[in-house]
Amino acid sequence: MPRLFFNPLTGLYYILRRKPRRAPVTPEVERMRAQAKVQLPPRLKELADANGFTYNRVTIKNNISNWGSCSAKGNINLNLRLLTLPPQLQDYVMLHELCHLKELNHGPRFHALLEQVCPGHWALERELKQHKMR
Ligand SMILES: [Zn+2]
Repeated sequence: MPRLFFNPLTGLYYILRRKPRRAPVTPEVERMRAQAKVQLPPRLKELADANGFTYNRVTIKNNISNWGSCSAKGNINLNLRLLTLPPQLQDYVMLHELCHLKELNHGPRFHALLEQVCPGHWALERELKQHKMR
């Protein structure tokens, strides 16, 4: 999820992509990764098909800096820790990243699109913020 920052020196907004911080690989992480690979890509495909999105590739990541991300090349990364979230928040993160295929920012058009495919998305965003990545 890229974030917009305002630089008062230049008067410009810019997108900061935080460098993903990789998490240590433990047996639990390996178990979750295996499960995430089985569970998350089919659900992403389902949500993409149902809402008219086409992505390039999906990769399961082991990091502690974001739940998901989307590149300008149409590749989507999903954090294996999504498995620790309730299903509606997993779907929210996936729909959020799918919307970045069309709007690679967090501007008004992005949120309008996300609201169309995920009604009540602001409440889900607030709910997501309550969850610590673990
Ligand atoms: Zn985002």
